[in-house]
Amino acid sequence: RAKTDGRGIFKVYSPEMGSKIRRYHYLLEELRLAIASQNFHLSFQPIVHVEDCAIDYFEALIRWHHPIEGLIPPAEFIPIAEESNLILELGDWILLESCRQMSAWHNAGMKKVKISVNVSGIQLKHRPIAKWVEQTLEKTGLPASSLMLEITESTLITASEEIIEQLEACRRAGVTIAIDDFGTGFSSLSTLADLPIDVIKIDKLFITQASQNQKYHKILNSISELGNQLGLKIVAEGVEQAEQFELVKSMGIRCVQGYLVSRPETSHNVGTKVLKGNVNHIASTGTSIWLP
Ligand code: C2E
Ligand code: MG
Ligand code: MG
Ligand code: MG
Repeated sequence: RAKTDGRGIFKVYSPEMGSKIRRYHYLLEELRLAIASQNFHLSFQPIVHVEDCAIDYFEALIRWHHPIEGLIPPAEFIPIAEESNLILELGDWILLESCRQMSAWHNAGMKKVKISVNVSGIQLKHRPIAKWVEQTLEKTGLPASSLMLEITESTLITASEEIIEQLEACRRAGVTIAIDDFGTGFSSLSTLADLPIDVIKIDKLFITQASQNQKYHKILNSISELGNQLGLKIVAEGVEQAEQFELVKSMGIRCVQGYLVSRPETSHNVGTKVLKGNVNHIASTGTSIWLP
């Protein structure tokens, strides 16, 4: 076991690190197996208009139910999938399955609702995504205008010219591009004007903080103002309380996503509650049509 250098700076090995490394390799192997046997499913969370709570999009969120470990959160396994490039194969499945599901819902009558899919920076680096998206849309019969791709702010601000050009090509084809987790990636507000985006998803951190903290309140307000002036659509992520809903609405933010409206749901529940119940609205602010 390596020791600290006396000032406590270099700690090369500790038992805790050992167990982290073991967990990492264990999950990596399990991830390979799960991908080979397609042991994942998608859950769907609505993004609604603040005015009437009509559903605009569903965000597709991956779920991994491990036979022994139970539900493993994406925040734990997506980084492992990225470091190992397994995200390429997994990401192919996620896009195909998301488009296939939305196309099926369209055919069943849920006409106006669109689908939003998270795309990792690794996917953007490894393949020309415009062609990939076009082929997936063709295969599933989903119109390009019904698809949104979510790319995090930190990925977008470090993206190469080739990647930006690919995203532009997607937009020209009619696909919507959103900047995800906005506010956490340290880009300046002025870069918003130059990025190939249509939608800003403001990170939950700002929504949580804005009601207690004047600084966050002001930042949220300026993001909203600038976004509106640039003609971008703004989504507030992680809205959990009615107060937060009213606050973002009063700031001119047009769409919200969060537990207040609905948790992510299984495709089965979306099918029964939205389609069979013929509901395409969330009943009213603060009440969820999904939860009992
Ligand atoms: P994200 O793309 O920002 O997704 C939103 C996350 O916030 C989801 O967590 C969602 O369940 C959660 N959330 C939504 N509303 C609320 C709320 O009111 N309160 C709280 N506390 N949380 C809320 P999830 O599903 O655990 O995903 C976490 C992250 O993992 C995602 O953040 C995304 O970065 C990544 N991820 C999830 N699915 C995929 C995927 O299919 N592909 C890729 N590349 N990444 C994914
Ligand atoms: Mg997202
Ligand atoms: Mg997000
Ligand atoms: Mg997030």
